Amino acid sequence: MTASTDVAAGADPVAGLIDGVRRGDRAALGQAITRVESTRPARRAEADRILEALLASTGGALRIGITGVPGVGKSTLIDQFGLNLIEAGKRVAVLAVDPTSQRTGGSILGDKTRMAGLSMSDQAYIRPSPTAGTLGGVANRTRETILLCEAAGFDVVIVETVGVGQSETTVAGMVDVFAVLVLPGGGDELQGIKKGVIELADILVINKADGDHVATARRTAADYQGAINLLSADSGRWRPPVLSASGLRNEGLDTLWETITEHQRVMEEDGRVAARRAEQRVAWLNERIEAHLLALIQSRPDAKAALADARDAVKAGTTTPTVAAQSVMAAAGLKS
Ligand code: GDP
Repeated sequence: MTASTDVAAGADPVAGLIDGVRRGDRAALGQAITRVESTRPARRAEADRILEALLASTGGALRIGITGVPGVGKSTLIDQFGLNLIEAGKRVAVLAVDPTSQRTGGSILGDKTRMAGLSMSDQAYIRPSPTAGTLGGVANRTRETILLCEAAGFDVVIVETVGVGQSETTVAGMVDVFAVLVLPGGGDELQGIKKGVIELADILVINKADGDHVATARRTAADYQGAINLLSADSGRWRPPVLSASGLRNEGLDTLWETITEHQRVMEEDGRVAARRAEQRVAWLNERIEAHLLALIQSRPDAKAALADARDAVKAGTTTPTVAAQSVMAAAGLKS
C-alpha cells in the first residue's frame, strides 16, 4: 500500500483506519494523525473514535523526550540514534513539538530535510509539529499521536522539542525519560539553558564531543555533573548522568541507549514508570478541562466580555487575579 492510497475509503472509513493503524500501516497512521490534528469537529470526532478503539493497544513504546537549543545537533543525533535502534530491530517514531511554528508560522523543527537517514527507512515514522494552535493544543495532539504510534507498533517514540520557552516542560510531561542536549563549553547562561531545564533532565548529553571539542566536552561534562549532583543531592534514586556524544560520528549513542534503558529499569523497579504515566494522564485531563472551560467562557458573550475586563483590570493592577477570575466564572454561570 502506498502513502497516497486513501485508507479511509470504503464503507466505514474510520473502521478501516483503526484496522490499518493496528496493522502498522503507515498511510493509515498518517491519516489517523491528520484527524487528530484537525480542527474540524467531524474529523475530530473521528479521531476520538479511533483513539478510543485503539486505547487498549497503546502504552507499549518507550517514550523519549529530547531537547536542546537550535544548532545543538538534535536532528543529527536523533537521525543516527534512530538508525542505530532500527539496526537493533526496533521501529522508531519521531514527533516534534515546535513552539516557533505557532508563533511565527515558520518552523525550526518542521523542515522535511532533517533526519535524511531515518526518513528513508520504512521502520521509521517522522511527523513534524502541528503548525496551528497554542502550545497546549499542540501538546494535546502530540500526546494523542504518541498513542497512535504505539497502537501502530512502534517500539520507541522520540519527541523532539526546541530548547526555548515552555515547550521543554510540556514535552517532559509526556515522556518516560527526558534528555537535554548541550554544547561543549560555556555555562548555562551562555547556552540559554535555564536551570529549570536542567532540573527536568533525566539525562544530560554534551553533544558534538568530537574533533577539537573533546577536551572542552570533558570539562563541560564535569561542570554539569557537579551542578547536577548539588541539585539532586537527596532527591530520590535517579541522579541524572552527564554523557558525552557525537551524533555526527555516531559516538556515545550506544551509551545513551544503555543509560535510557537503565533509567527505565530503575524506574520500573520502583513502579515509577506506571506512576509517572498515570500522573501525566491526570495532568493531561486537567489541561483539557481547563481548555474546555476557557473555550466555554469565550463562547458566551457576557463571560467573554467579563474575561476581557478581568484581563484589563489584572494588567492594570486594579484587582487581584483571584477576584477577577471569580467575576469571570460568575459571568459564565460557573461560580461554585
Ligand atoms: P539542531 O538544530 O539541534 O537539530 O541541529 P542539527 O542537527 O541541525 O545540527 C546543527 C549543525 O551542527 C549542523 O551543521 C550539523 O552538521 C552540526 N552537527 C550536528 N551534530 C554534530 C556533532 O555531533 N558534531 C559536530 N562537530 N557537528 C555536528
